[in-house]
Order: sequence, then C-alpha cells, then structure tokens
Amino acid sequence: MSEQVIDTQTSVAQALAAVAAAKPAQRQSRQAQVRWGSRLVTIGGGAPVRVQSMTNTDTVDVIGTAIQVKELAIAGSELVRITVNTPEAAEAVPHIREQLDRMGIDVPLVGDFHYNGHRLLTEFPAMAQALSKYRINPGNVGKGDKKDRQFAMMVEAAMKYDKVVRIGVNWGSLDAELLAELMDENAARAEPWDAQQVMYQALIQSALTSASYAAELGLNPNNIIISCKVSGVQDLISVYRALALRCDYALHLGLTEAGMGTKGTVASATALSILLQEGIGDTIRVSLTPQPGEARTQEVVVALEILQSLGLRAFNPSVTACPGCGRTTSTTFQELAKQIDDYLRAQMPVWRAKYPGVENLKVAVMGCIVNGPGESKHADIGISLPGNGEAPAAPVFIDGEKALTLRGDNIANEFHALVESYIEKRFGAAALTA
Ligand code: SF4
Repeated sequence: MSEQVIDTQTSVAQALAAVAAAKPAQRQSRQAQVRWGSRLVTIGGGAPVRVQSMTNTDTVDVIGTAIQVKELAIAGSELVRITVNTPEAAEAVPHIREQLDRMGIDVPLVGDFHYNGHRLLTEFPAMAQALSKYRINPGNVGKGDKKDRQFAMMVEAAMKYDKVVRIGVNWGSLDAELLAELMDENAARAEPWDAQQVMYQALIQSALTSASYAAELGLNPNNIIISCKVSGVQDLISVYRALALRCDYALHLGLTEAGMGTKGTVASATALSILLQEGIGDTIRVSLTPQPGEARTQEVVVALEILQSLGLRAFNPSVTACPGCGRTTSTTFQELAKQIDDYLRAQMPVWRAKYPGVENLKVAVMGCIVNGPGESKHADIGISLPGNGEAPAAPVFIDGEKALTLRGDNIANEFHALVESYIEKRFGAAALTA
C-alpha cells in the first residue's frame, strides 16, 4: 500500500483561501436616507445593516408610546415603527415626536399603515410630517379600482413630505386579487407549479409591481425599500434569494410572526443569518412575541446579537462564558458572567460616547482551569474561577498575560472594578490623547 502524504499546512491555507473567496459581498443596493432633524439613518448602498423595531403600545397613549420608543432606541434600535391605525392615533403622532425630541431622542419614527393610510396621510399633515418613513402594505390598500388610487395617495404624501417608503408585503395579508390571478394562470399551465411556488411569485410580484408603480408616480427609487415577510425559515430564504436577484432596492429583512422566546429567537437568527451571510438584507427586524413580563426591547437585543455574532457590526462588549459542567457545580461563575454582561449593557448608552471603541471589548468569565486560562488569554480581560476541588483562587488575565489572582468572597466586585479600570485606561480620554 502506498503511503499518502498530506501537506496539512498547505491544505488548511488553501481551504481558508477558498472560504474567504466564497464569502459573498453585501448585495449592491440603492441607498435610502431616513431623516429626523440632524439624524440621518442610511439604509442599503453599503451602509451598515440597520436595526429596527416596533412598539406594542396603543399609539393614542402618547406618553406610554414615547417611553417605549425611547427604550427601544436606547437598546439600539435605529428606527422605531409605530402603528397609525385611527384618526386618534394619527393625531397622537406629532405629540409623540415632540415628547421624544424633548427627551433628546432623535430616532426616526416609521408609520405602519393598513386600510386607511391614504386618508390618514391626507387628512393629518402634521402626522405625515412627523414620521420619517411610511410602511405601506400593498395587500391592505384597498380593492378593485380603489386600490391604485389609494396607493397613489400614500405615495404622493411620501413625495410631498420627502419621506422614505417601505413596500411591505406579508403573506398573511397578501393581495388576494393578485394571488387569485396567479393561481388561475398556474392552473392553465401544462405542468402547474406547486402552490408554494405560486405564493412566492405572488409575494415578489406584489412588492415589485407596487414599487414600479410608486416610481412611475414619481417617487425616487432610492426612497423605496422592499420587504416580503413570511413566517417559515425556508420560505423566507427562498423568497429573499429570488427577490435579491430581481431588484436593486434596499431590502428590509425579517421573519414575520417569529413566535415567542427560544423558538422565535432561534428561527429569526437562523433565517436572517443565512441571508445576511449571503449579503442579502439592509435592515432587519426581529418580530418576537414578548413573553409575559418580558421587555419589548428583547427584539432589539436579539437583532443586535445576530449582527454582532456574524461580525457585521459591533454594538456591545462581548462576554465569553463557558457553559459549566460537573467540574463546577456552584453558580458563582454563572452569576458573575451575568452580572458582567448586564453591567456592560447597562453602561453602553453612556460609554458609547465616553469610550469610543468600547463595543469591541472582549471579556471572558470561565468556570475552571480546563479552558479558563486559555479562553481568558484570548479575551482583553478574563477571569478563570476555581472549579470543584481547585484552589480557591481566580487568576485574571489582561491583554493575554496573567495580571493577578483574586481570592476570597469579594471576587465579583473586585473583577468589576478591574474591568472598569481596564476600559478607562484603554478607551478613556487619556488613551485617546496618548
Ligand atoms: S471551562 Fe471548566 S467548568 Fe467550564 S465547561 Fe470547561 S471544563 Fe467545565
């Protein structure tokens, strides 16, 4: 038998080069510019993938809605959508905007319109002006000969006030007339497609036909963003891959009705990550149903984590923590990891301005000596806690070197202080002027 010699180093290098070459660049798209005051949020055209969210307060409740918009913005949402469903809600919008401006929150507001958007945008000019972007669902703008007229009224408002429009198709409210027409066409085919293919076609056609009509009416194509949301992961991937090939509009990406908790988080992360990795998606929303008592901001936290995990953006320092095992039966390290994570997130609204670059900080909190020192060395600052039967000492590593060992009952607070002083030294004013 002849001996096969494998040059491991060369084959690894070739594999890495092949992976790097295969990684697709972000899809080229038009750039929409969403503005409020001096705040500009660019979407598409090479801009970072933007995070957006939606309130679940009654828009008529001005204070409640303004507070939730503020919370979502502070959590990292770069656009916040509110429903505008009644004349009372339309009346409330400029007051919500005013409250936000007074609180120093300049996040652009997006109005979500269904059924009566054409009337509200015409009859409430202060609302049309206070919003920075309108979401129009082509499946919910009217039936028969009213449909085009009512759609046109909304597009005309967008042109009059110079606003960006998202043409947001959703399979739960797909244009019934278009779907019926495509089903009839399909039935006449010698070899009919399956119903799922027709549904994909209807979603895409509804969005692109509406976008072309808006452009014909005079809306700058750069001011058009498209979405085609479905609730199945494989459906979303198929629809967006096809959509991305057929237009150059900026794409809003999201799994609609993703669900609650772990299911909603995992489904959204799976679908969005696959598409984002292919360069598809210019702005994302994670549509989580909040669990009882859960903050609305959780959907923003998940969206930020998706982008940060993919290495597309950095928002918060990352905390690496081991899962724990039989070597560490105490909860000390879990508590410390959580405390550090919570602490870093809570400080970020202030730190972002005070410590430029702090979002790239890497902290490790590990449970025992097996992987603890190694993982801690790879972090900017890391701690390896003692596992069962290990000496009650916690070595701390700073910039890859063992800096000191903490002992006793106050390890958590002492590590906190070390993280703070590391941040001050590395990202503080003195570091900037050094
Ligand atoms: S670092 Fe230690 S405690 Fe953590 S998972 Fe690995 S072996 Fe278990």
